Formats: sequence, C-alpha cells, structure tokens
Amino acid sequence: NTFAEIDLGEALNLNIRRCKYVKPTPVQRHAIPISLAGRDLMVSAQTGSGKTAAFCFPIISGIMRGKFARPRGYRIVYPLALILSPTRELSMQLKKFSYQTGVKVVVAYGGAPISQQLRELERGVDILVATPGRLVDLLERAKVSLEMIRYLALDEADRMLDMGFEPQIRKIVEQMDMPPRGVRQTLLFSATFPKEIQVCLFFYRISCQFLTP
Ligand code: AMP
Repeated sequence: NTFAEIDLGEALNLNIRRCKYVKPTPVQRHAIPISLAGRDLMVSAQTGSGKTAAFCFPIISGIMRGKFARPRGYRIVYPLALILSPTRELSMQLKKFSYQTGVKVVVAYGGAPISQQLRELERGVDILVATPGRLVDLLERAKVSLEMIRYLALDEADRMLDMGFEPQIRKIVEQMDMPPRGVRQTLLFSATFPKEIQVCLFFYRISCQFLTP
C-alpha cells in the first residue's frame, strides 16, 4: 500500500521519494496496476486527485524498461508516448517524475513560440506533452511522427472537448491509426463525462480496436 512496494524502476521510485509521495492516492491505487499490466483505461478523476502521476508513472516506467527500436529520422522525431492535455500544467510534475530516468520529456503548447519547442524536439523525445492545436501544427510541419506511439494519454478530456479541440484530437488519432505492429495503450482521464455516450464512444473507439482480439 505504499509506493515502496510498487516496483516502478529504481530511478522513478527514487523520484517518487523525492516528491515525498508515500502512499498512492485512490486513483493511483486503482489505475497504476491496471496500466502497468498494459490495459487501456478510462478514468473519471478530478484535478487534485493525483491523476497526473496515475498516468505518468506507468508510462515512464514502461519506457525505462522497454526496448523500443525507433527509426532515426532526419529532422523528424518519433516519440513513444503522447500526452494530450489542454494546458501545460502537468509538465512541471512530469519533469520531476522523469528526472534522471533517461526518459526525455518535451512539452509543446500553443501560445508560446514554436521555434524553441522545435529545437528541443530535435534533441530527441520519448514523451511528448502537447496541446492538440500545437501538435497538429508540428504534424503539418512534419517535425513529429506518431508512428511509434506506444502510450497515448488524454488528460482532462472533457476540458479539451469544451475548448473545441475535438477536430484536432481526431486528426491526431487518425495519424496513429496505422500503427506498425505492436500494441498501443490508451489512458483517458476526464473529470466528468458530459454527453457521456458520445464522448465515451468517441474515445472508446480508439481503445476498442486494441482490445478486439
Ligand atoms: P493532480 O491531481 O495530478 O493535479 O495532483 C494534485 C497534487 O497532488 C499535485 O501537487 C501532486 O504533486 C500531489 N500528489 C500526487 N500524488 C500524490 C501522492 N501519492 N502523495 C502525495 N501527494 C501527491
């Protein structure tokens, strides 16, 4: 019932201790084992519940341990994980969690100059955190390929829809619909599920294709 009992990898467990997290919050207690087992997840969780760690820990742990072969592109990068979020709020937490794990995080959000984000991307990226609009921009510039995405996390899905990001999210997910072989895991977090069926079905379609034998 403590993080010390969950083997997330030495470097990540150390960062968790540095953050002074001892016990998982309820959402973490439920979500972390399921996502470590490679299952898709749809979670109703509010900001403040510890949801960021609930999806970041399994992703960081999986990338630390995985042996992922990736193409070397010329001026195009192949992240392994994509976290779509309406804001950049989670990036501070994610940087603490990934400190000295060897997992590279790049944050690309709208409203900031794209040039610096491009320079950071060119130095390599494992986890890309992006707002949907900025990611579409990067895709259109052919700076990022989503072909190697193994983990897709949607943070505050309801808020992204409220902000009108649905067309961008669709566009992004469409680019991932031609995965090479292998599995992609989808982790969807939302405070609420308004117009439940529509929202759930829309996202669930993303997940379902990987659950279908
Ligand atoms: P979030 O819901 O992800 O925005 O997290 C809310 C706050 O809870 C953040 O400031 C985290 O640093 C903190 N937090 C997350 N998980 C834990 C934990 N297991 N123990 C203590 N604090 C935590």
